[in-house]
Amino acid sequence: MSQIASFGAKATAPGVSVHSGSTLRVPINKPSVKALYIHVPFCAKKCAYCDFLSWPTSASDPCLDSYVEATVRELHALHDRGLLEGCRTAYIGGGTPTLLGGSRLGMLAGCVRGVAPSLTEFTCEANPDSLTDDVLTAMVASDVSRISVGVQSLNDAELMELGRVHTAEQAKERVAAAVSAGLDVSVDLMCAIPRQSDVSWAASLRGVIDLGVCHISVYPLTIEEGTPLYRRFEHDTCEWNDEDVQARRMEMAEQVLTACGFVRYEVASYARLGKRCEHNIAYWTGVPYLGVGKGAASMLGPAEYDLAQQVLEWLPSRRPGASRMRFTAYDGDVEFLTSREAWAEDLMLGMRMTDGIETRLLDGEPSVRAELICRGLVEERGNRLVPTHEGWLLGNELYGALWALAEP
Ligand code: SF4
Repeated sequence: MSQIASFGAKATAPGVSVHSGSTLRVPINKPSVKALYIHVPFCAKKCAYCDFLSWPTSASDPCLDSYVEATVRELHALHDRGLLEGCRTAYIGGGTPTLLGGSRLGMLAGCVRGVAPSLTEFTCEANPDSLTDDVLTAMVASDVSRISVGVQSLNDAELMELGRVHTAEQAKERVAAAVSAGLDVSVDLMCAIPRQSDVSWAASLRGVIDLGVCHISVYPLTIEEGTPLYRRFEHDTCEWNDEDVQARRMEMAEQVLTACGFVRYEVASYARLGKRCEHNIAYWTGVPYLGVGKGAASMLGPAEYDLAQQVLEWLPSRRPGASRMRFTAYDGDVEFLTSREAWAEDLMLGMRMTDGIETRLLDGEPSVRAELICRGLVEERGNRLVPTHEGWLLGNELYGALWALAEP
């Protein structure tokens, strides 16, 4: 376990200032988050399937101004504590950040650039209906490098079933505008949805590829309890969403996308060379990340947590022995993880990625490693243990076996 503790500690160890001779100065390695997420919890209208934390409102709602102002204040306070100094990626997500409009979004994105000066990737989420030219201009002016557009489908009947407020034509036109603006464009597409056929799914996949995007995320629709979609189909068999359909559409996505030069690097994510989403990779690789805003999740090591607590005064004191803290402002719950739990979580999340995990991370559990290989869920490739196709299809078994290691 000690190697795991030190693996996790790399990003969280408090810094030491080292001086060599009279002139050479090694920079202080201060505690800092590596990924920053800002949540904008407003949408033009709730989609029929949505159970995310977001409120429907209009762009003229003054609440949007006060939300942006409060977020900017919090970002400055976090910056003043040094917590964002080493931050490499930022992501403004939602909700629908583009509902803020060019001026508010420009103010927020400009603030992020100012408080996190070391960013190598800066993403903003968008919906086609509010991705105006003004918004695109504000993104480019604030040095946003990447945009993730919620397209979901390029079929109007399917979009209507999902309760989306945009049409397929509007989505195509706005994605093309974002590509022309010089941004790295990612789109989200959804499969196993009402009225979708294999043919329309393939058409949506090919349609977004033709627009010149460099990253595509594909997800099967989840029918969440309490949503309008759930109420509508409560007594239905929902054959369009059954597991076989989901698996077939995800496999179709792999075939279509890889044939067009995209590389799958995570269960649901495909990218052209050099265009992986580093921010999302941070979530799957145990890197400390901080969420700002109503529904944003954070995961911090001890040193970052202690700093964050100086700003987020509602955070309780760290539990002795906890090596990882996970929380969202919305419910005020903090989960304290031991180093063993954090290790098991890293193993599990790492298996979402094609790169898997370093084999040595399971050196202390040779029987578990052997069993996973024997069951065909993982395989050794060089010094890595990577998920097999079977392992992803039976994801719950693979993730469950790794998470079970959290218990000593
Ligand atoms: S745009 Fe996204 S967050 Fe907003 S209602 Fe639709 S699914 Fe939910």
